[in-house]
Amino acid sequence: MDLLIFWDSGAPGGLGLPVSRFIGDLFSLPVQICPNPLILNGYVGSRRQTDARSVLDTLAIFRQRQEIPDPILLVCGTDLFTEGTASLFGLARPYSRVAVVSTVRLENTFYGLLENEDDLIDRLVKESAHEIGHLFSLEHCTDPECIMYAPLTLDDLDRKKRRFCPECRNLLDRAVPRAGI
Ligand SMILES: [Zn+2]
Ligand SMILES: [Zn+2]
Repeated sequence: MDLLIFWDSGAPGGLGLPVSRFIGDLFSLPVQICPNPLILNGYVGSRRQTDARSVLDTLAIFRQRQEIPDPILLVCGTDLFTEGTASLFGLARPYSRVAVVSTVRLENTFYGLLENEDDLIDRLVKESAHEIGHLFSLEHCTDPECIMYAPLTLDDLDRKKRRFCPECRNLLDRAVPRAGI
């Protein structure tokens, strides 16, 4: 099994390599990264946001039609929401094995701070690994430093480490083929 990452043209370029390397290490799986082949649906002009569920619908249909066996993560540069939430860092749909993360709220510039590529890579790795963790049936964790902790704010995300706690690591090793080797 590989992990498939679709990189949308709206997301910052040049980060694919470091992000996919960290993700590959965390899951002990090969990562394939390619330009997003899909048109993103679900943009709501009045909110200037995209409905993450519409994005996941498109991804799920594509994955099924193309008979892709691997989980797919889409990295996009559009702000995400779902009905009932103001915004999202990302969203996963485990039964369809597809997930999406947005870089918008992971960037310092969104909060009026100086741009920092290392910060962005760090957050993108944690958020991507969190959503991929859901694709391997992991649920939210109460350990604030674990990747599966659900971050509500950027501080929450920055407090997390780039690792799974021993309990989540155990569950992951059982769910991921070849993990931990
Ligand atoms: Zn989550
Ligand atoms: Zn955990």
